[in-house]
Amino acid sequence: MMKVVWLKILFVLYTVFSLAISCVSENQTSAVRKQEKNELMAHLRFLASDELMGRKVGTTEAHIAARYIAEQFRAAGLQPFETFNDYLQPVEFLIDNKEVSCQNVAGFIKGTHRQLKNEYVLLCAHYDHLGVQHGKNHSGEDSVYNGARDNAMGTAALIYAAKELSKFPPNRSVIFVATTGEEEGMLGARYFMEHCPVALQQIVFVLNNDGGGFNDTTQIRVGGKNQIEFLSQFWNPVINLGVACLPYPKELAYLYEKGDNIVFAENGIPSVTISPGFDRIDDEILKYVHQTADEATDDFDYSYLLKFSQVYALLAQEISNAQSVPFWKKESEYYRRGVKLYSN
Ligand SMILES: [Zn+2]
Repeated sequence: MMKVVWLKILFVLYTVFSLAISCVSENQTSAVRKQEKNELMAHLRFLASDELMGRKVGTTEAHIAARYIAEQFRAAGLQPFETFNDYLQPVEFLIDNKEVSCQNVAGFIKGTHRQLKNEYVLLCAHYDHLGVQHGKNHSGEDSVYNGARDNAMGTAALIYAAKELSKFPPNRSVIFVATTGEEEGMLGARYFMEHCPVALQQIVFVLNNDGGGFNDTTQIRVGGKNQIEFLSQFWNPVINLGVACLPYPKELAYLYEKGDNIVFAENGIPSVTISPGFDRIDDEILKYVHQTADEATDDFDYSYLLKFSQVYALLAQEISNAQSVPFWKKESEYYRRGVKLYSN
């Protein structure tokens, strides 16, 4: 009889103990999430601040943005490329016959797998934007194109991914690039490809991220999703976060050709652009796309910024760890270029 009582007492103690443990770990998780959200908010508020004057290529403020990203990469533990100036890749362009100097910001994580570490997954997001509206900078009127959604949001997600992937380095090596000159015609991405610190065929997949605005926070949009043969294994962890992963709406599929990802696709490298959720271009989007209203205000949806960043990092993790990476579908116009690139 005594034995039964003792067993009951032990059972009750065990139940109380495990409940306490699960409460503690739940509290820890929500504390971590809160911290991550605060960090993302800080990145966004800094990059999209009036002080950075719209991060126009060639300006002092764009250099400050580049330095900020470089130091975030350092803090995350990324390695710099030997041929770069610390994390900065100096880039020179001719814009309107004027020489403009700016920088891509890049670093990498070395993969852990004996063979797969020689393959690179590349994550990128452009950090430049449009600068200041001319002829409208008299007092009281907002003249700064802050580019919070385009693309401080994506840059914050890139920094988040750098930090997350550094915690548990994946099988493949991963390159992180914050590109310059996207708004001037993907000039920074092109420069990176033409002066790439690794052989092009070592880059096996590109996850770009970019967007102008969002009107549906239950989803993310994936430009190029229909061009690439994806196994469901890549999307399941994201779907478990409660986010739908959809291709760009049909009538907006052309946007795939308008961002940095296209520079990689043209070289044959399978690439997609992850964008915040939108189902159509409505007033909610047009209010912000290349407008001075695209700011990091108090009512910006910072919870969605965290979710978007988690999705981006998770996808990057899945692809960097997978047995084999997704490749172009046979019917994609980039398939042949891909076959050519990787048979070299
Ligand atoms: Zn953009």
